[in-house]
Amino acid sequence: MAERKLQAPRGTFDVLPDDGQRRRELYRRAGSVLGRYGYRPFETPVFEDTDLFARGVGESTDIVRKEMFTFEDRGGRSLTLRPEGTAGVARAYVEHGMHKLPQPVKLWYWGPFFRHERAQAGRYRQFAQVGTEALGSDDPSLDAESILLLAELLEAAGVHQVRLRLASLGSFDARAAYLDKLRAHLREHEDELSEEVRGRIDANPLRAFDADHEGTRAAMAGAPQLLDNLSPDDDEHFAEVRALLDGAGVSYDVDPTLVRGLDYYTRTVFEFESAKLGAQSGVGGGGRYDGLVEQLGGPATPAVGWAAGIERILLASEGKLGGFPAPVYVAVADGGDRREAFRLVTALREAGVRSELEQAGRSLKGQLKHAGRLDARAVAIVGDSIEWKDMGTGEQRPVTNILEAVRIAQGLDA
Ligand code: AMP
Repeated sequence: MAERKLQAPRGTFDVLPDDGQRRRELYRRAGSVLGRYGYRPFETPVFEDTDLFARGVGESTDIVRKEMFTFEDRGGRSLTLRPEGTAGVARAYVEHGMHKLPQPVKLWYWGPFFRHERAQAGRYRQFAQVGTEALGSDDPSLDAESILLLAELLEAAGVHQVRLRLASLGSFDARAAYLDKLRAHLREHEDELSEEVRGRIDANPLRAFDADHEGTRAAMAGAPQLLDNLSPDDDEHFAEVRALLDGAGVSYDVDPTLVRGLDYYTRTVFEFESAKLGAQSGVGGGGRYDGLVEQLGGPATPAVGWAAGIERILLASEGKLGGFPAPVYVAVADGGDRREAFRLVTALREAGVRSELEQAGRSLKGQLKHAGRLDARAVAIVGDSIEWKDMGTGEQRPVTNILEAVRIAQGLDA
């Protein structure tokens, strides 16, 4: 019987070398922007207690209801591959007593996340995110800084032409009062709503704003807006965030229908979209989560953060990311000394020159062809002596020893 062909699981992908290089370059640029803003690298485990996400992200969210990769370990504990980063960071903040550090604590992370979603372009079951969290202050400048930081990171990644949507969800109390109003509106229009929205009037009425269903959309056009129902404090906070963004020259659309798929958000929420991405247009987003740390057993700790999808950034990027300088290629003539060639390539690399060695048994002619494919700047042919061929000028000359070859190669960079 023929064995089943082995493939990467649905919704996952291999990072092939060209893409690997772009990811590395994005990582480098992201780290440089994040460092400049005072954020420090941070890592949490790829799996956590299932409870953390149920309590942190929210039982009524799509993520917790339908999208988690949950499994039992050998000890019968329920674990879940992390679907997002904030809950783990908040857990770690509590666990390590980080409220005792000078506040705010500013962290960034990069790594794999897992959601059991319907796989399509730009939407995967394993994807990578870069994200930040700033914990321990409710200062509106942190909200503005987070947004600015993501805007700058996207710019550095070659993602231009983004739209920034911005809203405030208010604090929990104001929101609870508003949600009652919204539920009343939905009940009044129950007949017009999609079945899914109708079934979730109690659990998650905000999702009605997200619906594609025509009747629901019509009913929502006249719905009360959260932004018109904020407390004076929330209003003031949001006005300050906007003023800071205005001052920094960041343009945005205040969008009262902006709903994020996680329960922990309070006050500021935002999302960057790129028209280049089609249906999955979200590149990154986040907001304030002033109640989460306390909810997970820590002290009352206001915080703000965002996450952006690496694959989406790369899909939307118009910039050239990465690439190394052209190499020096070390070829071996028929009967040439392979050990001398190995010594030469080693010396070149030690001297910081990117270089490659013939390692596939090619003829000299085949090697020169291969050097062309690699776009080599120069070829060193090791025979009785070493011949140095400059691929730019076509000029060829003998060199007396490895040291001289290294000096010439370094001269190429000068
Ligand atoms: P979220 O945590 O849902 O706000 O997601 C933040 C960002 O992560 C999104 O804007 C996307 O760029 C990315 N993202 C979320 N889910 C996926 C997925 N299933 N596949 C690829 N990227 C994703």
